[in-house]
Amino acid sequence: MLFLSFVDDVPNERNTIVYKLHVSCEKGSQRLTVKSGQLEWLPEGSQLTMASPAQSGDNQRTYTSFGQSQQNTSERPLGVKYNDITIARLGPGQAIELEAHAVKGVGKVHAKWSPVATAWYRMLPEVVLLKEIKNGDAEELVKRCPVNVFDIEDLGKGEKRAVVAKPRSCTLCRECVRLADDQVELRRVRDHFIFTIESTGALPPEVLFTEAVKILEEKCERVISELS
Ligand code: SF4
Repeated sequence: MLFLSFVDDVPNERNTIVYKLHVSCEKGSQRLTVKSGQLEWLPEGSQLTMASPAQSGDNQRTYTSFGQSQQNTSERPLGVKYNDITIARLGPGQAIELEAHAVKGVGKVHAKWSPVATAWYRMLPEVVLLKEIKNGDAEELVKRCPVNVFDIEDLGKGEKRAVVAKPRSCTLCRECVRLADDQVELRRVRDHFIFTIESTGALPPEVLFTEAVKILEEKCERVISELS
């Protein structure tokens, strides 16, 4: 992620990682693809001096205030996670000179820091066969379901019947009900929730879920203690 943004804190060695990128495409040469791996870590912080009119008398200050080098605190050199992301395509005579500041923050302050891409839940579907569906009707039912919720059970002597094999896969599309509305019923298990969490990559989904539950628990405890 590339952005220049600071929250309340002064950007320092504990909340900001700075990268620089200086690339140019010489006149007369081929177009140049600039990749994320070309970002260079600056462990001492920003090298750009503040030179806006409001701060013109203070042009020795940079955009970060590092108390010490990040090389002292980091076990290994910091870098981007994926080196092959295309940042730009430069034409002959074009150049990029930038600093990228990766700033630590939380989603409560701004959504750009949220480690969750999307999250949703649904109740566990329950597919109930109200009557026995056999032979040709059973095969038709199996074919009708787009996500293979039903299966065929062999009863012997050439007889077979439909069974509900994978109710969790049901999307509640109602195709089976359209085929046999007096034989199939769709329900939801009201105390069983299936959560789907997509991470942005900062934290694995299982960690996101357990951390969210901890925060919810803390909030509930606060409400209980304030009410009692
Ligand atoms: S509602 Fe749709 S997905 Fe669910 S069992 Fe019926 S046909 Fe399959």
